[in-house]
Amino acid sequence: MAGAAMAKGFQLRRSGELTYLQAPLLEGCRGVVHAFSTRLGGCSTGAMASLNTAFHTGDRYRCVLENRRRFLERWAFSPDDAVAAIQVHGTGIIRAGAVHRGRGARPDTFLGEGDALLTTVPGLPLTGYAADCLLLFIAAPDVPAVALAHAGWRGTLQGIAPAVVQELHLLCGADPAAMVAALSPGICARCYTVGGELAREFAAAGWRGEPYQWTDGGGGCHLDLAAINREQLRRAGIGGGRLAGCDWCTGCHPRLFYSHRRDKGQTGRMMGLIALRGQSAAEEAGES
Ligand SMILES: [Zn+2]
Repeated sequence: MAGAAMAKGFQLRRSGELTYLQAPLLEGCRGVVHAFSTRLGGCSTGAMASLNTAFHTGDRYRCVLENRRRFLERWAFSPDDAVAAIQVHGTGIIRAGAVHRGRGARPDTFLGEGDALLTTVPGLPLTGYAADCLLLFIAAPDVPAVALAHAGWRGTLQGIAPAVVQELHLLCGADPAAMVAALSPGICARCYTVGGELAREFAAAGWRGEPYQWTDGGGGCHLDLAAINREQLRRAGIGGGRLAGCDWCTGCHPRLFYSHRRDKGQTGRMMGLIALRGQSAAEEAGES
């Protein structure tokens, strides 16, 4: 199903107390810094244990700040520089400029509502948050530009992936034929049972049958959001060896990942980070 030509997905890495993931495809992009956090190595407790990075989860504020610091400083970013939007499961795309540095470092500074961020500014850390939803990491080395999108079922159905590719092209002049993309860990189709009505909505949008959706022996409908996003990116011009699929299920790995579905909403969020390497961050970024 993954396709022989598709690039290898995110891989586990360790650095001190931190455990995170990186995609070899993006590591191969000179000038791009990226990572996806796990729940390991933080200071939150209980259902939030331990590296919860999102403020809106009911976790203690100081813990979230500390967790974000631990993760971002690994790549020599100050947590005060983080850029984030309020994710609303739509297709809103925000272009972040130098003036937006730090818009998202605190709950009251978020960069408005939107589910994708893009930038051409070096050293500006774009962040996204997820626990089952996919984060789409996209780099356009020819500009250079980077983007990070949040895709749950709503964003997937509305086509946030092709929308981001188009914006990178229209706003930044990026050529889709030069772009690379990697899908973060997200919920697998086996873990992701949905109602028949939603399955029919996806079928009506052209996502019928395997690998996009299937029905189990008990009549439960299963959606494969990663398969749909992969195909959307492929049709938008990012395919084959320039696309890395989702190799990790957040629901299947409770030790590593938060899962909104598995934990019935009482859970933390992993952070996705992508940035263009800044002058000052260049040396530190390669260290472990
Ligand atoms: Zn699973």
